[in-house]
Amino acid sequence: MNLRYGLQAKFLGMMALALLVVLALMALLWNRQQSMHAAVEGVSRATMDDMAGQTVRRRGEAVIAQLAESLSNPLYYFDLDAVGTLSRSALRQPGTRYVIVYDADGNVVHDGSEAIPTYGMQMKDALAKRAISASRTEVQAGSGVMDVSAPIMIGPQRLGGVRIGYDLNELRQQQDEAVVQLHAQLDRLGQRQLVWVGVLSAALLALSAMMLWLIQRLLVTPIRQLADSAREIESGRFDAAMPASTRADEVGDLVRAFGRMSQSVARHDREIRRMAYTDALTGLANRLAFREILDERLLKLHEGGRQLALLFADIDDFKRVNDTLGHDAGDEVLLQFASRIGETVTRHGGADALLARFGGDEFVILMQACPARSGDMRAAASRLAEALVSALGEPILTHGRQVFLGTSIGVTLFPDDASGATALMKNGDIAMYQAKQAGKSCYRFYSRAIDQAVERREQIEQELRGAWERGEMSLAYQPVYRVHDRKMVGAEALLRWQHPQQGLISPSVFIEVAEQSGLIDTLGPQVMRAACRDAVLWQKARPGNEEPLFVSVNVSPRQLRSGDLRASVEDCLRDTGLSAHQLHIELTETTVISDEVHASNLLAQLRVMGVKVWLDDFGTGFSGLSHLRRVPVDGVKIDRSFVADIPRDPDDVALTTAIIAMAHSLNIVVVAEGVEKLDQFEILRERGCDLAQGYLLGHPVGLDEFMALLGNIRHGVDVARAGAAVH
Ligand code: C2E
Ligand code: MG
Ligand code: MG
Repeated sequence: MNLRYGLQAKFLGMMALALLVVLALMALLWNRQQSMHAAVEGVSRATMDDMAGQTVRRRGEAVIAQLAESLSNPLYYFDLDAVGTLSRSALRQPGTRYVIVYDADGNVVHDGSEAIPTYGMQMKDALAKRAISASRTEVQAGSGVMDVSAPIMIGPQRLGGVRIGYDLNELRQQQDEAVVQLHAQLDRLGQRQLVWVGVLSAALLALSAMMLWLIQRLLVTPIRQLADSAREIESGRFDAAMPASTRADEVGDLVRAFGRMSQSVARHDREIRRMAYTDALTGLANRLAFREILDERLLKLHEGGRQLALLFADIDDFKRVNDTLGHDAGDEVLLQFASRIGETVTRHGGADALLARFGGDEFVILMQACPARSGDMRAAASRLAEALVSALGEPILTHGRQVFLGTSIGVTLFPDDASGATALMKNGDIAMYQAKQAGKSCYRFYSRAIDQAVERREQIEQELRGAWERGEMSLAYQPVYRVHDRKMVGAEALLRWQHPQQGLISPSVFIEVAEQSGLIDTLGPQVMRAACRDAVLWQKARPGNEEPLFVSVNVSPRQLRSGDLRASVEDCLRDTGLSAHQLHIELTETTVISDEVHASNLLAQLRVMGVKVWLDDFGTGFSGLSHLRRVPVDGVKIDRSFVADIPRDPDDVALTTAIIAMAHSLNIVVVAEGVEKLDQFEILRERGCDLAQGYLLGHPVGLDEFMALLGNIRHGVDVARAGAAVH
């Protein structure tokens, strides 16, 4: 039983208090009754005393009057016998202690005895004096005696007197006996009352106990049960037995209302847990649920020595679907992906496999192998990954369009790669990233080497933040020449990072990091602004009759996708005062092709402004010259890998020739990059290539050096001499 001062204890306390009050009242009553008995006894005794005194006095007065009357003659004649007879007869009366007849002088004449031993003696007792001198009946109280005396007269002559002593002690004794009887009577009455009080107290006790029991049963127990249930609910155990009641009173209503409320709380809790643990779109487990299950399984696996594989699948270029076809189509694609992954996992993933969506386009599969086949974990994971890559590589039909998407998968193994859930999940992510690096639509197992590369990337990302503001970044300009007259027509702006410890870091190392981390969003516009500003400076350094030089700025895919490229270009031109015709934008071929519709719109807008758009590294992500028809570009930059091999590889010559011919047929300018050797330059010139850039013609140099160059080379560059200088 609970010891705290609860409802029951309060009722118990109240009952006890009420009982105590009743008992105190009864005790008071009893006490009053006792003192009343005593008072009754006292009053009775006094009344009896009074009444007895009166009676004795009246009797004495009557007897003495008669006796005095009767004695007058015998005393006159001094007839002692008659006096004796009368005295004795008076003495025989009950309660009479003495009878004394005396003469006028107070000497005893007779005392009712035979021998009269006191005869002739003077009466000397305390009452004698008043009796002797009394002229009428006199009543006096002595010790234990009532003395009644009367004079004996004959005519007017006083012969003497007579005294009768009545014994009061005997009377008192009788009174005492009467009082004892009264006391006993009162006691009996009191006892009867005590019994009543006892019975009443017992009834009261029984009533209290019954009240307590009823309160316990009707109030305390149901309330305690409700409190217990509330505690269960509070601690999240909704399935604990709910109190039920068939009672038709308020407590019954309360219990039923509580039951309904707890059911609804349980329902809400289930709903919230379901929402918290499932992915709203696909209904698969989400990251939270996955993490909990993974932790749970890892705990079991540590004991069982079994293996486990995590597969991180990420849809390649999924963002493109959202951007071009809208989010509804994106959701539909995700659903189709989820169902394909689900089917493949059912077929190849084993019984315990778990599929979850981590949000966005990321799916994770947990695969488990039994101890007997533990050696096969890597092979089993490979099989599943292969099956996934091939199943997810199939085109998806959505909104009447066929979408080609691949999936990159990273695989990590427990306990080979890591033993904790966090490390495993990080490994899976790294391996998936590696698969993306390896060209997408493939899978990669986690390896520590990748991990280190990732760490380095993270370090670069950290250091890259704020590098522009710290003045560690600058732009180098590489001149671009017209092939046929070998005149400089512009320059490409190339970003440089002078790292305080590591020295010059190439953009090929950090641009990708900037791109993936989103740093390019701030870096890109800064480059564009600086390049435009510098281009205005070049202009000022050149004589007015020279044709203006263009500056060509590399724009990353992310800048293209972000949607504010156009606004950012407009701002730069307006703020720096550079003419739109002098600005070229270089986009990689893959960027444009991967999002043809969006790119086409944007490029069309830029071209309307007068800004020229070039496709950089053309030929590397080669997916058909036909794209050139659909994407409105002004120029293509043949990638330096083709240029490098032109002198030796006839295929590259053929390809370069085809590109040039095709581009020209579409009115597109052809630029060759990476021209390092004279023979390369010559071949390009023969094939009609329009512009060229490369170490043969000029290295990328800082602004000051480039300005100096502008001052020196006003005319065509002597390729032969430049080439000789290079080598
Ligand atoms: P890219 O746009 O194709 O730039 C040409 C790259 O080739 C430059 O490398 C340049 O230094 C190098 N190059 C020029 N002539 C020769 C040559 O004769 N032989 C050889 N082997 N290489 C030559 P860099 O500066 O390291 O830039 C690498 C890439 O980084 C660029 O390729 C471009 O895609 C990217 N990048 C550079 N600056 C920026 C920038 O400001 N923004 C963005 N988004 N990307 C940039
Ligand atoms: Mg470029
Ligand atoms: Mg290039």
